[in-house]
This record gives sequence, structure tokens and C-alpha cells, in this order.
Amino acid sequence: MHLVDYPESDRANELARKTRDLMDEVILPFERDLGPGEAISDSELESLREAAKDYGVYCPQMPEEYGGMGESFRDSLAVFEEAGQSLLGPPALRVDAPDEGNMHTIELAGTEAQKERWLPPLIEGEAKSAFSMTEPAPGGGSDPKMIKTTAEKDGDEWVIDGHKWWTSNGYEADVFLVMARTDQDAHPYEGCSIFLVPAEADGLELVRDVPSMDSSMLEVSHAEVRYDGVRVPEENILGAENEGFQIAQRRLGPARLTHCMRFCGMADRALAIARAYMQHRDAFGSSLADKQSLRHKIAEQELALHTTRTTTRDAARRISEGHQARIPVAMCKVKAARMVQEAVDLAIQCCGGAGLSRDLPLVDFYEGLRFFRIGDGADEVHLRSIAREAFEDEHVADADLANLPEF
Ligand SMILES: Cc1cc2nc3c(=O)[nH]c(=O)nc-3n(C[C@H](O)[C@H](O)[C@H](O)COP(=O)(O)OP(=O)(O)OC[C@H]3O[C@@H](n4cnc5c(N)ncnc54)[C@H](O)[C@@H]3O)c2cc1C
Repeated sequence: MHLVDYPESDRANELARKTRDLMDEVILPFERDLGPGEAISDSELESLREAAKDYGVYCPQMPEEYGGMGESFRDSLAVFEEAGQSLLGPPALRVDAPDEGNMHTIELAGTEAQKERWLPPLIEGEAKSAFSMTEPAPGGGSDPKMIKTTAEKDGDEWVIDGHKWWTSNGYEADVFLVMARTDQDAHPYEGCSIFLVPAEADGLELVRDVPSMDSSMLEVSHAEVRYDGVRVPEENILGAENEGFQIAQRRLGPARLTHCMRFCGMADRALAIARAYMQHRDAFGSSLADKQSLRHKIAEQELALHTTRTTTRDAARRISEGHQARIPVAMCKVKAARMVQEAVDLAIQCCGGAGLSRDLPLVDFYEGLRFFRIGDGADEVHLRSIAREAFEDEHVADADLANLPEF
């Protein structure tokens, strides 16, 4: 429901309209025809990508010289939202995680040679990538300072040793962006680096595909990976030595917002499905759409969706103006993850048994969204940052406590 006109540029509105046309005319009909529990094949995905190119919305966020459209981050955001209406939208438009964030990281921090090597095939969809940071206990998870994977210099090579898991795309990736400690003595935030590791490197072992709660529509792996004496040439470091976390931080801000926008699209579609079902279904003498208790719940979710859209646009504006916007991004991330979970859950409830059937996409949505309250920083980790900032606020109203006993 786009009741509210968001203050987008003309170009953003144009891109959003083209994407909506592509979704309505090609991607949603294709999704509805896909059998329940059936995954999209490579050739079918390729044909959806061709359609995205024909509609002029393929990989808008990447530079033209490497095969993207060179649109600004803010103008691309509405495309992410429209694409998010279907789980098939983001891979079709090549705005899908984790490749989208990885391409952005290479564009941000890569040398010209690294960009030329990896960006064109990644943009074209001929190559895939993985971001390998999270480790099983006792390594780094929510607290990345606990990272145990190391990279040591040996002549003109780096030697990487470590154990990671939840490396999304691990089984499909041609290149891994691996976070490793390069200075044991420094604070981890100043002693880690990112390396580009080709999938065929000796010593890179895919231990298993972690069985996880995921939509069956897209077959994405989440690999447990061992790096056992993996050697890469020194030019495979991404960005400056020991700046891994600074790069990750610059990657994560925009990447979290693109997630938020995709999930706004998912919530929007889920609520549209719920409203359609309610209008066609009667119970106890009237349409479900006439039941005030359900109407109010839909209204609450429309409110939460609108709030998420506006806060995400606000954070994107700050990033585009050169600010890090760490706290606004953390707020969007928590808000969007909760909002979409509640919206899809409500849509399932409103559709009754049909909501839990795979005749509708809601079950796939539900399976696909749950990770977002954990991945890219769990709710509690973001709330911790927001709270820290709030408690550091100098405008603590001590004076207001003056009349209390013992203050
Ligand atoms: C589907 C999926 C895809 C993923 N893809 C990738 C990927 O591509 N690359 C990658 O590197 N990682 C990936 N991850 C990993 C993800 O980023 C981590 O799971 C996440 O950062 C949490 O780390 P952890 O699992 O080690 O949880 P833990 O650190 O063990 O934390 C467990 C729970 O403790 C709570 N918690 C943590 N800290 C605090 C605190 N300070 N206060 C209160 N509660 C707290 C949170 O609820 C958290 O969920 C993925 C995860 C999933 C589920």
C-alpha cells in the first residue's frame, strides 16, 4: 500500500515504477506458477535476469563501467523494496544478499585489478561470492572481537588458518571475502583484514552445508568452512592491512538498509495478500475484512511499515551525505526485522489454513525472514549500541531528580 508519497527523486520514482511493472508482469506471475516447494532453476533465473535488463532495472546500484547502471544508493533503494515483494525479485535484479553487499565491498575497497577481476562476472551473475566472518564458539559471532581466524605473512603470500560457519553462498561461491586477524597485538578492530580467497584455493574445505531454516524457493547454502594453511598472494588483501573492520562497517551500513528495504517489500506484499483474502472470505455472517479486530491489526502493521520505510530513507540520506549513521542504521535494522516478522505472521493468521499452505508465498516469506533478527547483528547487539548512545547523552535530566529523596 503506497498511500504516502515518499520524497524520492524523479529518477528513483522512475526506477521504482519500472521495477513494479517487472514484478507485476513477469516475476510475480512466474512465482505463482512455480510448484509448491519447487526451487527456481539456473536457466529460469537467467530468463528473469534478461527480463530485468529489458525493463532497465538490472543491478542499478553498481557502476556502469563494470556492467551495472551506476544509479546512486538513494535512487536504488526503492528498487530494492519493489524487488522484495518476491523472494525471486532480488536475485533476478541482482540486488540479492550476500552478493550485493560483497560487490559493494569490492567496489569500495578493491584495487582496480580486483574490481576488474570480480565485478563484471559478479554483476552479470556468472560468479558468486561469500562473506566469511562468523565463527563457531569460541570464535567470533555477535562479538566480532573474538575472531580467531588468523592470516600471517610469509614472503609475498598470506597464510590463512581458521574455522568459519554460516558463510552464505559457500557452496556456490567463486570467491570468499574472509575476515582474519593480521595483528595479534592490536585491538581486534585495528588488527583484522579482509582477503579475497578463490574457491579453488588449496586448504579451503567446505565441511558441510549447515541445515537451516530457509525458503525452498532459492537454494542458498550456508557453509561451515575450514581454512587450513590457505595461501593467497599479497595482492589479494582487500583494502589496507588491519582495516578489515573499518571496511566491514562501511559495507554493513548500506547493506543493512538494503535488507530493510527488501523486507519492506515483503511486508507490503504479505499485507496485500491478507487484505485480498479477507475481502473474499466470510465468517459469522460478514466478510473478514469487516471485522474490526482484524482491521486494526492490519492498520497497526501499515503504521509499522510506513515507519520503517521513513526511518530507512532517513538513514540512507545520512549515509549519502557522508555520515556513518551507525545508530540510525541500527534502529532501522531492529525495526525492519521485527516489523516484517509481525506483518508476515499477521498475514498468515488472517489467511487461516491457506496462510500456512504453500499455495501462497507466506510460508516461504516466514522461513526467509527469521534470520534477519539474528544475521547482520542480532536485535540485542543493535539495542546494546542504541542504549550505549542513549546513556551517553549529555542531556541527562539530573535537575529533574532534585526533589527525590537521597538524590
Ligand atoms: C541465515 C543466516 C545467514 C548468515 N550469513 C552469514 C554470512 O554470510 N557471513 C557471516 O559471516 N555470517 C553469517 N551469518 C551469521 C550471523 O551474522 C551470526 O549468526 C550473528 O552475528 C550472531 O552470531 P552467533 O550466531 O555466533 O550468535 P551468538 O554470538 O552466539 O549469540 C547468540 C544470541 O545471544 C544474544 N546476544 C548476543 N550478544 C548479546 C548481548 N550483548 N546482550 C544480550 N544478548 C546478546 C543474541 O540474541 C544472539 O542471537 C548468518 C546467519 C544466519 C542465521
